[in-house]
Amino acid sequence: MRRALVLIAALGLFVLVSSPPAQTQPPPSLVYHAYDFTGTTNIAGFGVWEFRSLKDDLFALAEQYPEIVRVVSLGQSHEGREIWAVKLSDDVSTEDPAEPETLFIGGQHAREWIGVEVPFLIAQHLAQNYAADERVKRLIDNLEIWIVPMVNPDGHEYTRSDPCPTAPQQLCRLWRKNRRDLGNGIFGVDLNRNWGFQWDARAGGSRNPQSLTYRGPEPFSEPEIQAIRDLVLAPQRQFKAFIDYHSYSQIVGWPWGYSFEPPIPLSEDKRFDPPSDSVEYARIGETMAKLIYSVYGQTYRACQISLECPYPAAGVSTDWFYSETGGISFVIELRPQGSEPGFVLPPEQIRPTFEENLPAALYLLEQALPELIVRDSPRDDGSVPSGEIGFSPDIRVDGAPLGIVNTTEEPFGENDHENAIANAVNRVYVTVHNRGLTDVPNAVVELYWRDNSQLDLSAWPEGWQPIDDDGDPLTAPTFRHFVSIPANGSATVTFLWVPPVATPDAMLLVRVRHLQDPIRLLRDPALRFEPDRYDNNIASRRVQVFSTTLGTTK
Ligand SMILES: [Zn+2]
Repeated sequence: MRRALVLIAALGLFVLVSSPPAQTQPPPSLVYHAYDFTGTTNIAGFGVWEFRSLKDDLFALAEQYPEIVRVVSLGQSHEGREIWAVKLSDDVSTEDPAEPETLFIGGQHAREWIGVEVPFLIAQHLAQNYAADERVKRLIDNLEIWIVPMVNPDGHEYTRSDPCPTAPQQLCRLWRKNRRDLGNGIFGVDLNRNWGFQWDARAGGSRNPQSLTYRGPEPFSEPEIQAIRDLVLAPQRQFKAFIDYHSYSQIVGWPWGYSFEPPIPLSEDKRFDPPSDSVEYARIGETMAKLIYSVYGQTYRACQISLECPYPAAGVSTDWFYSETGGISFVIELRPQGSEPGFVLPPEQIRPTFEENLPAALYLLEQALPELIVRDSPRDDGSVPSGEIGFSPDIRVDGAPLGIVNTTEEPFGENDHENAIANAVNRVYVTVHNRGLTDVPNAVVELYWRDNSQLDLSAWPEGWQPIDDDGDPLTAPTFRHFVSIPANGSATVTFLWVPPVATPDAMLLVRVRHLQDPIRLLRDPALRFEPDRYDNNIASRRVQVFSTTLGTTK
């Protein structure tokens, strides 16, 4: 609010003391997008702007590149405008369940016009360079890339109204919210305070309908973002990376916005003290900021949203995407840095802003390429769900040597799997494969076990316990390792397991996760935020645990 008022005051002064806007404003731009309009508008105090129809430009792209571009309406706004999405993929008209989805959105806030242009120009760049650029081709061939440049078409139309139906004119150009009619001449919900995760948190939007950050009557009350929600939660899809483009202040922000707590996926059980994704977010976010800087020397600050990037905010898209997917989720605040010119970025800066953001966008898309797999059975090819679980060849027990005298290890072959011995140190080898095209540093690999005769195999985390490396209940178990797994390669990690009692029907369970390939959650509303036991990052294997006096290890 404060920024907007400063801007209005500054621009008012500018108009009063300067020559007529038509001479002092930059020449009209051919890239500013209206929802469905082509023409020129003279916005008092802002000069002459040329608009293009976003709808026409998206459909033209699809017509020119029909194999890789498809335009889809995700739903309608309050005033009945379509929310247009463009999908880029090889064989674009089919849904390939093996290809992860990515999503860029823009224009949630009406006045942030550059937030529409950058995702649109990224879509255009991807389509135009598919044939000639190997890097772009690899992304389109291996991902399903969704781009929604204008989430708030009603608000966008309002910001370029000529004449503005309300006075003064500046309030149209600087409109932020959508155009929900709240009665009594009050309009608009702040779409980026209306997302359904922690909507009600202390850092949430205002309860006052007249506020710039009015959060709406309930989470996801607004059709514009319901459309995005339904795209992301469609059952056949697994979205793994997200950017929400805004302006201004030049920031690369990641979850959480609602809290100062570090980001931990909701798939994780707090009892097991799960590591946060802060380190991986910082690595990816800071790389993006460096890539942006490398183009024109513009500094974008990279940090957690609530920690000055730019400030605590709840009910925001970035938190929601991460909460639902566990995947990479960013907000980028584009140019300019400060309140001059603030939301009204001169058109000659549109293309440079796109150009400096392109390498970061391509890099982020590449981070969605890893595919971590622990097989459920020898026949498991990684598709979900696999046919059978409990027979993972990637979990192999090297049983403790029998007896006190003979402590010599017997040979243990590549495919061996032995019974375990209670109250002795057994080795468990876990192999994780990366079928993807990008390395994964520091994947979290965890090993759990339980007595299998008692509980439902598919349940998690009910009944499972972390394996303990020394059997001493007073020391923390080492059931978790951080492992780097190269693209198109695999890595094997060794756990030490001391089962406390003989267990004829035990089960070992491996969970692997990383920000770049999270464990997906069940979508059933009754099972909110339960991890999907059939995700290919989870595998299990039966094992018999004998007491030292019973049986043999082979
Ligand atoms: Zn914004």
